Amino acid sequence: MSINTRDYMVPEGKSIEIDSLPTKYDGNLEREEGLELFNELLLKLRDLQELLYADSSKSLLVVLQAMDAAGKDSTIRNVFGPINPQGCKVVSFKGPNSVELAHDFLWRIHQNVPRKGHIGVFNRSHYEDVLIVKVRELAPKETITQRYNHINAFESMLHDEGTRIIKFFLHISKDYQKVKLQRRLDNPDKLWKFCPSDVQERTRWEDYQKAYEAVFEKCSTEKNPWYIVPAERKWFRNLLVAKVMVETLESMDLKYPTAQFDPKTIVIP
Ligand code: ATP
Ligand code: MG
Repeated sequence: MSINTRDYMVPEGKSIEIDSLPTKYDGNLEREEGLELFNELLLKLRDLQELLYADSSKSLLVVLQAMDAAGKDSTIRNVFGPINPQGCKVVSFKGPNSVELAHDFLWRIHQNVPRKGHIGVFNRSHYEDVLIVKVRELAPKETITQRYNHINAFESMLHDEGTRIIKFFLHISKDYQKVKLQRRLDNPDKLWKFCPSDVQERTRWEDYQKAYEAVFEKCSTEKNPWYIVPAERKWFRNLLVAKVMVETLESMDLKYPTAQFDPKTIVIP
């Protein structure tokens, strides 16, 4: 396969101009070819997830972040839908409720990290606390500055304790978002997905892009990397996310447990 996932990974400490990165890219593949590769990856992913479950000493956390209407939901449906639901949990983080607000920003996050043997998917995450919170000035500047270090320390602890973390930013253009939001408005079956505040957030597009750039520069590490996924070709987006997941699981040195008994000595009556 001609996709090198490292091309999409943000190297540690690198400052990125997201604007210069493609949103509509297909890895020089034909759609048909891409779909075929995706289906092969899904089969591998299913096997690897079973292995993760059987091994049960490590877990995988997938963080999904994006501007509104970039396709987080559809990525989850396409890539994680085929996975055995017994070993995979999706958690969506909305604006914090009063109990969550009465705690530190990682409190609700930590409770939802995947248990050993499981895959956890965060639809939005602790990164909102340095994204929307920064853009809308919902916390003091110093607090936000400190949070990057706290996030790195938290993720590093999770990694050392057996949770691999991969973080995806689904990258779309402002024009593409307009088309997608308009489609929600025009289609009665999609209207429920539209939130008038999405328009408000859109007016701060440039501030969000800057806030994302700060995240990539400060919080993409060799252990817990960020990937910037060109997300306007949905099949390519799914393919890239699935490939990174397969490669990550393959690198986790997972093993089926050895039996505590000799199967040859057991007779089924
Ligand atoms: P869609 O892309 O389909 O609209 P969504 O993830 O945007 O899905 P919504 O319910 O529309 O889901 O939005 C959730 C909102 O909660 C987002 O605007 C997000 O920025 C906000 N949010 C999440 N975490 C926090 C946080 N820690 N502080 C403040 N706002 C947050
Ligand atoms: Mg929304």
